[in-house]
Amino acid sequence: MATVPTEQSERDDRSRLPSVDRLLRADPAAAMIDRYGRAATTAAIRAVLDDRRRAPNPTPPNDEALIFDSVAERLARGARSSLRPVFNLTGTVLHTNLGRAPLPPEAIAAMTAAAGACSIEFDLDTGRRGDRDDHVEPLLCRLTGAEAATVVNNNAAAVLLVLNALAARREVPVSRGELVEIGGAFRVPDIMNRAGCRLREVGTTNRTHPRDFADAIGPATALLMKVHTSNYAVEGFTATVDERTMADLAHAHGLPFVIDLGAGQLADLRRWGLPREATPAEAIAARADIVTFSGDKLLGGPQAGLIVGRADLIAKIKRNPLKRAMRLDKVTIAALEAVLRLYEDPNRLVERLPALRLLTRPATDIAAAAERLRPVVAAALGETADVTVVACRSQIGSGALPVDLLESAALRIAPRGKRGTGRFLKGLAAAFRSLERPVIGRIADDALLLDLRCLEDEAAFRAQLGALAPP
Ligand SMILES: *Cc1c(COP(=O)(O)O)cnc(C)c1O
Repeated sequence: MATVPTEQSERDDRSRLPSVDRLLRADPAAAMIDRYGRAATTAAIRAVLDDRRRAPNPTPPNDEALIFDSVAERLARGARSSLRPVFNLTGTVLHTNLGRAPLPPEAIAAMTAAAGACSIEFDLDTGRRGDRDDHVEPLLCRLTGAEAATVVNNNAAAVLLVLNALAARREVPVSRGELVEIGGAFRVPDIMNRAGCRLREVGTTNRTHPRDFADAIGPATALLMKVHTSNYAVEGFTATVDERTMADLAHAHGLPFVIDLGAGQLADLRRWGLPREATPAEAIAARADIVTFSGDKLLGGPQAGLIVGRADLIAKIKRNPLKRAMRLDKVTIAALEAVLRLYEDPNRLVERLPALRLLTRPATDIAAAAERLRPVVAAALGETADVTVVACRSQIGSGALPVDLLESAALRIAPRGKRGTGRFLKGLAAAFRSLERPVIGRIADDALLLDLRCLEDEAAFRAQLGALAPP
C-alpha cells in the first residue's frame, strides 16, 4: 500500500481539484445553499478542498460527487447542536453534567405550551399585571406547609438571595461541620462573602453543640443557618444541633432560622425503599423560618431554587433587587408547576416522575434488561471485546445521599487481551459517544461499564448499535 508519491503525481492531484466557484455553481450546491446558507456552504467547500490539498497521498479521487459528500457531511455536522439528548448509562441518575432530572411528559407539554405568548405575569381575571411566582406558590405552600414561597434560578441563587436579603452586612453563625463545597464552585463561605455577610464559624468539624451557637449570638447576628451536608457524611464521634433546637435558639433571640436543604425532596423516600432524606415539610414543621432547596435534584423537576417559609420574610426576599436578576424563565416555571402537580397524587408519583421511577427501578428489572442487551452489544463489538452482565451500584447523584448506593446491573465491556487496554477503552468510550444519540458509560476496573438503570428506551438504544465503530 505504501506507494511513494512523486512530486509530479502530487501536483497532478492538486491541479485536478475543482475551484470553489465551480463547485458553488454545481447542482448539488443549490440545495445546500438553500438549507444552510451561502456563507456556510462556501466555508464548507473551502474546508473540504483544503483537507484534500493537505491529505497525504493517495488522496481520494477528486470526483465532484465525492467532494460534495464530504461537504454535505461537514455542513450537517456543523448545523447539529452541541446540546444533544444522550443515553445516561453512567450509573449516576441525577448527573449534573448530563442535565440532572429527566422531565416528565406533563412538564414537557407545559413547556411547549408556554413557549409562545403566555400569561406569565398577567392576571387573566382582572386583566392586570400578575406575579410569576403565583403559578407555583400555592402548590409549594400546600406541599411544604409553608405560608409563602418564591422561586429563582437554582438553589445556589436561592441561598445567595436569602443571605443578601436577610443578613447583608451582618453576621451568620454556621457550624464548622456544615461549611460545605457542592460541585462547581459553590462553597458556603464564598457565598456568604458574595452575599455581603460575615460568616461566623462555630463548633468544630465533627462536633457542634447548642452552646456554640448561643455563645456566637450577639448584636451583629442576622440569623441562624443550617446547611444540609448533602454530599458527604461525618461519622464517628459527632454531634450536630438539630433543627428544633436551632429554631428555639434563634427564636429566643428574635432571629430567623434558615435551612439550606440542598436536595429537598417533597415526598418521603422511604415509602419507595429509598433512604430517608429531610423534606422541606419537616423543616417547616421544625419551625424553620426559611427553607431553600433545588428543583432538579431529588424533586425531579427543572433547574430551579425554591424558597419557602414565613410570609413577611418571603416578601422581603422578593423585594431584593437580586430576585429580579435571578428570576425564573416562563418555560421553567411551566415545567416546575407541572412537576409540583404530580406530587399532589403521591400514589402515582413513581410511575409519572422519571427521576423517582429510575431511582426506584428494581435491580432484577435492570439485570433482565442487561441479559436482553448483552448479545446485541456483543454482536456489535465483534471479536474486539467480551461483554458480560455484572452487578453494580448506581448513585443518586447531585450530591444527594452520597453514601447510599442503589443495587443495579451493567454491561461490562472488556477488551480481549490485556495489551493496550487503556487506549482501547478510551476508543470504545469515544465510539459510543459518537453514535447519533451518544451513549455515556463509565470506565472502571479495566472495562467500560454501561449501567442500565437509566435506559428506558431499549429499542432506540438497539437501533443505533449497527453504526458502532469499535476501535
Ligand atoms: C446542591 C446544593 C446546593 C446548590 O443547588 P443548585 O440547585 O445546584 O444550585 C446548595 N446547597 C446544598 C446543600 C446543596 O446540596
